[in-house]
Amino acid sequence: MADVPSESPVVVVGAGQAGLAVSYELTARGIDHVVLERDRIGQTWRGLWDSFCLVTPNWTMSLPGAAYAGDDPEGFVPREDIVRYLEQYASAFGAPVREGVGVDSLEPGSTGGFVLRTSAGEVHAETVVVCTGAYQRPHRPDVAAALPRDVLAIDAKDYQDPAALPSGKVLVVGSGQTGCQISEELQESGRDVFLACGRAPWLPRRVDGRDIVSWLKETAFFDTTLSALPSPAARLGANLQVTGRRGGHDLHYRTLQAMGVRLLGRLAGLEARRAHFADDLADSVAFGDARYADIRTLLTEQLAAKGVTAPELPDPPPFHADPPRELDLAGFGAVIFTAGFRPDYEHWVRFPAFDGMGFPLTDNGSSTVVPGLFFCGVHFMRKRKSAVLFGVGEDAAVVAQSIAHNRLHALPT
Ligand SMILES: Cc1cc2nc3c(=O)[nH]c(=O)nc-3n(C[C@H](O)[C@H](O)[C@H](O)COP(=O)(O)OP(=O)(O)OC[C@H]3O[C@@H](n4cnc5c(N)ncnc54)[C@H](O)[C@@H]3O)c2cc1C
Repeated sequence: MADVPSESPVVVVGAGQAGLAVSYELTARGIDHVVLERDRIGQTWRGLWDSFCLVTPNWTMSLPGAAYAGDDPEGFVPREDIVRYLEQYASAFGAPVREGVGVDSLEPGSTGGFVLRTSAGEVHAETVVVCTGAYQRPHRPDVAAALPRDVLAIDAKDYQDPAALPSGKVLVVGSGQTGCQISEELQESGRDVFLACGRAPWLPRRVDGRDIVSWLKETAFFDTTLSALPSPAARLGANLQVTGRRGGHDLHYRTLQAMGVRLLGRLAGLEARRAHFADDLADSVAFGDARYADIRTLLTEQLAAKGVTAPELPDPPPFHADPPRELDLAGFGAVIFTAGFRPDYEHWVRFPAFDGMGFPLTDNGSSTVVPGLFFCGVHFMRKRKSAVLFGVGEDAAVVAQSIAHNRLHALPT
């Protein structure tokens, strides 16, 4: 059993990149703390499917104090190397991580501060930083409840590889990054794949000899704030369709269609064994093309302002499809849901500290409701890059600085 103190001035919950980056920044400021992790360091990356490779280029593995030092900055390492990077990061500064310690609830302490009820007993803290993941609870559309019981239905987090699925056709529901990658792998393995598509932006992997993420990093794209989105709900929108597998390549509606994946509209209903799909595939592709056009404009305008020649992004070719509106699920071995994620704090963080979608109400990571409560690694917490490998460090530093400030001002005079 991990050696867990019953009291710690600061407790960080979660040892993914966000928890570790916060720990690094607290350590740098000499702030005593402990990091409680219910599984192992980098558990979310460990749990991704077997063939997963980083989607952003290798240079994005650049947490505070640990800039990417490898010889393939625009390559895409497999998941094991991401985990190794995080483990080495933690040991390099002696992060006080206690693995195998799950926090079941976070509640007000009887005399102030917080009490964390954990699998290793109660821990009392003055300050808590919740770093339990950017992508927490897999989302399934409501209609999923009516699936026939004899068809295996899983979320992407339970997908490992094609051989582990029952034989037969596969319906993938959700065409974000994950849905596209799983569809590609299944189609290549010889399965008949049907992909129920939603709206997602897409981009080519490389342009003018550089990775698209490297180009975007030159603009304000990753610094976009929540208030600049068209609506708060846009925060739940899909990330860019692209892949890092086999050295990285384009992967979107058109590439999937060309390789034989059957694209469909959104899954709209299920009746006995019949699945119904909306008549919206063309609209979804048009949405993706419009975001592509937005990004072309952004690159052209913002790079020109810096005196850099923008890469040439070609017009997308016309898109044609005549998808069926109904499918008989006889002969289907599995349905895989890849329809995004929702926040999942409220069942264990016993404070009214969240908005209507379940996101924490924060100002620069500090709860605007509960003094002493902080968050890090939340998608769009401060910026678009708040939850990604190369962006979380900036937020971690801001959070650690606030904690240092609060502690200084709380000292007895
Ligand atoms: C499929 C997929 C691909 C992605 N690809 C990229 C990419 O290419 N590049 C990129 O920069 N980002 C990518 N991301 C986004 C992001 O970098 C990852 O989601 C990353 O894991 C987020 O790190 P985190 O530390 O915020 O959360 P996590 O890595 O999820 O870490 C949270 C940790 O908290 C622990 N935990 C949770 N609840 C508790 C509890 N109650 N008590 C104790 N411990 C708890 C978990 O076990 C976990 O280890 C991807 C995300 C997904 C889902």
